[in-house]
Amino acid sequence: MGLRTGEQYLEAIKVRNKAEIYVMGKEVKDVTTHPFLKPSIMAFKATFDAPWEEDTKELARAWSPFINEEVNRFNHIHRSPDDLAAKVKLLRKLSHKTGACFQRCVGFDALNTLYIITELMAQKGKTEPKERFVEYLKTVQKKDLALAGAMTDVKGVRTLKPSQQKNKDAYVRVTEVTKDGIYISGAKANITGVAASEEIVVLPTRAMGPEDQDYAVAFSIPTDTEGIKIIVGRQLNDARRMEGGDIDALPYFYNHEGLVIFDNVFVPMERVFLLRDWQYTSQLVEIFSAYHRQGYGGCKAGLGDVIIGATYNLAKQIGVEKASHVQEKLTEEIFLTETMYAAGIAASLNAVQPCPNCWWVNPMHANVTKHLVARFPAQISQLAIDIAGGIIGTAPSEWDLKNPKLREYIAKYLQGVEGYTAEDRLRMVRLLENVSMGVAFMIESVHGAGSPAAQRIMFSRLYDLNYSEEVAKKLAGMKSNVKFTEKAEPWRDTETEKLAKSKSIEEKKQQ
Ligand code: SF4
Repeated sequence: MGLRTGEQYLEAIKVRNKAEIYVMGKEVKDVTTHPFLKPSIMAFKATFDAPWEEDTKELARAWSPFINEEVNRFNHIHRSPDDLAAKVKLLRKLSHKTGACFQRCVGFDALNTLYIITELMAQKGKTEPKERFVEYLKTVQKKDLALAGAMTDVKGVRTLKPSQQKNKDAYVRVTEVTKDGIYISGAKANITGVAASEEIVVLPTRAMGPEDQDYAVAFSIPTDTEGIKIIVGRQLNDARRMEGGDIDALPYFYNHEGLVIFDNVFVPMERVFLLRDWQYTSQLVEIFSAYHRQGYGGCKAGLGDVIIGATYNLAKQIGVEKASHVQEKLTEEIFLTETMYAAGIAASLNAVQPCPNCWWVNPMHANVTKHLVARFPAQISQLAIDIAGGIIGTAPSEWDLKNPKLREYIAKYLQGVEGYTAEDRLRMVRLLENVSMGVAFMIESVHGAGSPAAQRIMFSRLYDLNYSEEVAKKLAGMKSNVKFTEKAEPWRDTETEKLAKSKSIEEKKQQ
């Protein structure tokens, strides 16, 4: 099949028999109709609609050599830098259609990460994980499955390693290995779109040592599995979704995050891609986080466009769009948005190839992208609120507008330039309020794909200060013995590149 429609996706996730999904303390069986979750399901669905819509089908389809069929790009393994750039462009486009995070990219990045890691393991002589992974990938692609990626552990005391924690389940771990599979215990936090998914791809969240080997595990599991419990988190303004209106919760597309508990869950061996292989965890984390950081250049730039458009329209509604300070602020919003996007495209086109047919993003540029995203959305929102005015925090509700006794007054006092109605004003105000201050633009931008400190660690790991010092010493006429490389950038190899260049088990034996 390779490509499903949005309607086919909705049908597939309707019934949950085994997993328990909770929203505000109550169990939900049909996630597609629950008023709290429905906006999130609709945002996820946009990724299934994209291959069928005129303006996105080119970007949303890709050819898979694994099944010799067209697949949804969200289940595609990147085959070139252009594929990576197409991901960023698709994410920007989908933000235009949803005004929200559409939640399918974490699973997408998890697939590509496991493809590289299992390939590198195979090159070092361990071939089974790759064979299992490729079989799994073919199933995902053929059935066009909706994946969630689960990485962040609950982590307990942050200064302690997994094996040092008093709570042994502070990180997801293997509790038993049988010839047929493994048993899993623990929980993953902040898991984007998990209640909207059909499968969860679980990855370790940090580099592990030999003492943490029970925590070095990667696998996939159907979301509707016995022992899986999902507790969906709350968000700003979330109760508005349940009011049954059509204005106050605009854009009526949202992401959700959930705490996913694995209560002694059995995972069949054919779904296990990393088992106690702690030596590969630091590379795995590096690969995944860079992939997801690159993607933010697309989706957050797309949300920036929504905010710029809403701001401009509100300025027009009150007749200030030509004022020089408004023009200046809109220009700043454009600059901030395009800078995030440019970084995401640079991370794609300057891609790295750690193994034949593996394409990874440029790790320095991917980290720069996410670091910009951690800062700029707050500035874009602030400028938008500045232009939109105080009404963004004080507007009457849609229920006031719909009250026959009040409608006339609101129509009179909310209207500005002729041609725009009070309802137009309220609609645009609500869209701007919910997108500019929502989780996807404000919280996710800071913490998603790793907090800002994580990117700064990567900058200092990747940038070779000694090299640039030698460049300066040479220009200053000081003694310098360094032989300069052909590389234009003073960058060190990543852990992944070091692993790719290291010897295989066979080569080591021959020495
Ligand atoms: Fe995709 Fe962006 Fe949401 Fe991550 S934050 S899942 S990249 S839309």
